[in-house]
Amino acid sequence: MGLLSLGTPLDWADAKQLADYVRSNGVQQFLSIFYNLKDRQGEPLLWGDEIEYMVILLDEATQTAKLSLRQSEILEKLNSVTDDIANDSQSSYVKSQVPAFHPEFGRYMIESTPGVPYSAGLKELLTVEVNMRLRRNITKHHLPPNHVPITLTSFPTLGVNYPFLDPHYNPDGDASRSLFLPDQLINPHVRFPTLAANIRKRRGAKVAINVPIFFDVNTPRPFIDKTIPYDRDLFDSDSEAKNGAAKPDHIYMDAMGFGMGCSCLQLTFQACSVDEAFTVYDALAPVAPIMLALTAAAPVYRGYLADVDARWNVISAAVDDRTKEERGEVPLKHDKYRIPKSRYDSIDSYLSTSKRNRPEYNDNDLPINEDVYNELLAADIDTPLAKHIAHLFIRDPLVIFNELLNQDNKTSSDHFENIQSTNWQTLRFKPPPPQSKIGWRVEFRSMEVQLTDFENAAFSVFIVLLTRAILSFDLNFYMPISKVDVNMQTAQKRDAARAGKFFFRKNVFPKRDKTEYKFDSPRLGSIKSLDNLKNGFGGGVNEPDMNGKRTTSSDSLYSNYNTAIKPDEEMEEMSMDEIINGKEDASFPGLMGLVYAYLHSLNVDIETKCEIKKYLQFIKDRASGKYVTFATWIRDFMRSHPDYKGDSVVTAKMNYDFIIAADEIERGVRHEPSLLPPSYIGSDKLKEPSVSDLCNSVSNDPAPPKRPTPTDGLARLRGSNLYTV
Ligand code: ADP
Ligand code: MG
Ligand code: MG
Ligand code: MG
Repeated sequence: MGLLSLGTPLDWADAKQLADYVRSNGVQQFLSIFYNLKDRQGEPLLWGDEIEYMVILLDEATQTAKLSLRQSEILEKLNSVTDDIANDSQSSYVKSQVPAFHPEFGRYMIESTPGVPYSAGLKELLTVEVNMRLRRNITKHHLPPNHVPITLTSFPTLGVNYPFLDPHYNPDGDASRSLFLPDQLINPHVRFPTLAANIRKRRGAKVAINVPIFFDVNTPRPFIDKTIPYDRDLFDSDSEAKNGAAKPDHIYMDAMGFGMGCSCLQLTFQACSVDEAFTVYDALAPVAPIMLALTAAAPVYRGYLADVDARWNVISAAVDDRTKEERGEVPLKHDKYRIPKSRYDSIDSYLSTSKRNRPEYNDNDLPINEDVYNELLAADIDTPLAKHIAHLFIRDPLVIFNELLNQDNKTSSDHFENIQSTNWQTLRFKPPPPQSKIGWRVEFRSMEVQLTDFENAAFSVFIVLLTRAILSFDLNFYMPISKVDVNMQTAQKRDAARAGKFFFRKNVFPKRDKTEYKFDSPRLGSIKSLDNLKNGFGGGVNEPDMNGKRTTSSDSLYSNYNTAIKPDEEMEEMSMDEIINGKEDASFPGLMGLVYAYLHSLNVDIETKCEIKKYLQFIKDRASGKYVTFATWIRDFMRSHPDYKGDSVVTAKMNYDFIIAADEIERGVRHEPSLLPPSYIGSDKLKEPSVSDLCNSVSNDPAPPKRPTPTDGLARLRGSNLYTV
């Protein structure tokens, strides 16, 4: 891979001086892309997933499960295996389908993506699970002995005070200066330790992550964590824990690795135009917290049960480089802005210029870089997009490579990407890379990765179909963004998927008068006749595939838009079951009702629809509580373990048994009826998928999509995936 010594990152003191230089060139690069490509129309739906694995070493003799720091050698192996498959094949289709493996922040992590993005055919949705299984299969077969790739969101014993890494290192590294995590845990590419160090330096202290502890019957109150080495004296920052950074009743963590060392499931969609990308971005924003709650899979940190089920706030705090002034703890003196949120957080404003995007919905405090904003407005960028970019550009570039300082702003986007890719939000609006054929894309980033590829495929298929329903039916999910943020917090609470109430828009249809629509909700039985629904939507939803454009324009529908209704009255609090499966009184169809309606509007054979419904049924059942989230399952597993003392502590042995159980569930040798349907076939029992299986299952498609190639001359320096974690 040659990842180790590429590029020379500037010291934070030097990088800081060049922040404005990077920002002003970044804006020029954005403008160049925007003006070259803003009129690009008619791009097909392409989409792809990213799945992150933790590579875990199981030692039966000592009954321990440790994170294995062998990313470089594993990736080298995986890349040579995929090269071999591609080189051996006569078929260009097979070549194009060979999956891709990428490095991630943690040196125990691997990311995989499909070789080429999926295209629009509904049938192609049935290849998603095969594709994911193929990637897991390749990984499994090429790991060192006793290693397993597990799609786990957080590793329960990361950062405990006994060995949890293989090989073991003491936590004494200068990049993180963590009391718990050694720097050797970080991807060795110089960009990553530099990122960790510069976040700490910019903040003026180590990051401080405090997750509320889960108080069980024997958890001491107050909970003061005795495993923290409060008196260590290696770095100046060591005293922070003692001086208040570690809060009572919380699990304290102090390094980027605790957050960026979590795994997730991300989806990227190509829109047919920049406007469509805005529409998808805006509509998925309120969906992000819902899906975070429904995929919740991270209830244990540093060997303790937490009172949260999901990772989000942990990563958010793990890369929070804001100074005290920016956080509002002391008055602004040296810094420019008060910044309410970390760089890793939910989005702060909607993008569309449609009348639907009422100013009242954009009700978050939105600090913007005024210079950037004025420059964008002067260049005729619409206000919502200008605000979005100017908000991203309040951040400093964290890592600047000497070799990348001088760029041609017409052909490179590296300065822009430097800022963009270290704004880790629930949604990412991805402009096309310069001089590429790739279109405007939106990335959906809130979901936690699921244990099995059946589940990962189910969530992917659901979100893909939801985006198509949003576009075809011209749905309106707008609500005040401050309430989306409230939902983000609700989503992480223990048991949110079953017990949480989330704000959601009541009437999502394009016309205001709800009585014009009659629709079935999945909870009210089968959805067979959708004529009413189609009539309500103005018809025209019978597309042959998922590339269909909507037949009505939201602006015309909204010409008599009633702005007298207050945004708060447009929403109500609903349970997960209601948001996904619809309300008992049919006043809200549920996101699944909309997806079903869309599915039924397509001319596709019954068999394909039935296969797709297996995934949708699983999502419905997860939302209704028939199946628990993995977070709930993990918590129950730990609490019912014979070694558990009711004190919130997860021991090395409990962790080992948990990893063994997780692996067995995925392989299908251990059945967990509260988690997965009886029809789930684990990877042990399923025929091993091969690349040609992918080709067989989409053999009706006319031509293989082309593998996107990086055209940016600097891409090599960046590595394929080094700008995002
Ligand atoms: P990042 O880490 O920057 O988010 P990755 O390259 O890891 O991006 O993953 C991007 C995902 O987008 C992959 O699943 C890939 O298949 C998919 N993808 C690639 N090109 C396109 C495209 N033109 N439209 C939509 N999705 C794409
Ligand atoms: Mg991504
Ligand atoms: Mg990626
Ligand atoms: Mg990733």
